Amino acid sequence: MRCDEIRPRLEAYVDAELTEAERGQLRDHLADCPECGPEAVALERLHDGIRRSRLRRDLADQWTAAGERRCQRADRQSSALLAR
Ligand SMILES: [Zn+2]
Repeated sequence: MRCDEIRPRLEAYVDAELTEAERGQLRDHLADCPECGPEAVALERLHDGIRRSRLRRDLADQWTAAGERRCQRADRQSSALLAR
């Protein structure tokens, strides 16, 4: 495979959307090619970063929601105390 056949498939390769045969072909090329190899690594790192930051945002949302619930409960408790 030539570089210009590889490049359009890199994204799919990194996303693991290729068949095993296609992956093998790309892997062989990437191992040999001084241009597509680093390109694939960079793309993979980029995708990894996106996945991780999405995960972080999900977790942060959960924590915020849990924290708000705790605060509301504490508010109710303290206004109950003040109402006495
Ligand atoms: Zn190449």
